[in-house]
Amino acid sequence: MTTTHTNTVVVGGGQAGLALSRCLTGLGVEHVVLEAGRVAQRWHERWDSLRLLTPNWMTRLPGWAYQGPDPDGFMTAGETAAFFAAYARSFAAPVLERTPVERVRQHGDRFTVEANGVTFGARNVVAATGWCDQPAVPAAARHLSGAVTRITADAYRRPGDLPEGGCWSSGPRPPGCSWPTSCTAAAGPSPWPSALTPACPGATGGGTPSGGSTARARSTTRSTTAPTR
Ligand SMILES: Cc1cc2nc3c(=O)[nH]c(=O)nc-3n(C[C@H](O)[C@H](O)[C@H](O)COP(=O)(O)OP(=O)(O)OC[C@H]3O[C@@H](n4cnc5c(N)ncnc54)[C@H](O)[C@@H]3O)c2cc1C
Repeated sequence: MTTTHTNTVVVGGGQAGLALSRCLTGLGVEHVVLEAGRVAQRWHERWDSLRLLTPNWMTRLPGWAYQGPDPDGFMTAGETAAFFAAYARSFAAPVLERTPVERVRQHGDRFTVEANGVTFGARNVVAATGWCDQPAVPAAARHLSGAVTRITADAYRRPGDLPEGGCWSSGPRPPGCSWPTSCTAAAGPSPWPSALTPACPGATGGGTPSGGSTARARSTTRSTTAPTR
């Protein structure tokens, strides 16, 4: 098997991996980004009605920021994926998609990285594989009746997939914010714990995100943190 040599291998083409790639590109450091799926894969996997909790004007990366017509809006998951794909294209990020890293070995001060039948040799390896792709199910879930359907955020797609009846969302955000809205729209009012909802953009206005506390934060911070590109 031939080995391709580079300075740095970045594992993961999500926002962290892409931001690092943009910085390395700016510094002229040779590197490659190995992504198991597509660029911004996580945002392709999330539920249909998901919108960012953060307003568009706040969405920025090194050398890149939201430039669309709705700075106070909240991007859908699909729009967010497209935003990151455009970012990768903007600096011709050296991303190899559908290249899951299977093994990293250290040999003195170098590493070999094996992925999908290809091997890379590098001085540096950066794990940018994310932190919130594994569901954390509360221990109390063990005590739920078997009659209660349980589903975690990575498996949920739309309210129509759930059995009839009320639903309860555990964890404040993002699922805890947006699921009550989407489930309520489908199944009628449910007794959501009020402590979960005040700061949730997607939990007010029947599913249309509104500014709420994030809009107020914007008016106090924007003058000193205007988006740049
Ligand atoms: C439901 C939900 C909603 C959210 N909403 C917001 C929001 O509104 N605003 C906000 O700022 N943040 C939000 N977040 C948090 C945000 O998604 C994360 O902070 C962000 O995705 C972390 O970026 P990352 O690049 O570190 O990891 P990820 O986006 O998880 O990217 C990691 C990448 O690594 C790849 N990968 C993993 N293993 C391998 C491997 N072995 N080989 C190759 N590639 C691999 C994955 O395919 C993935 O593309 C939300 C998170 C969730 C779960």
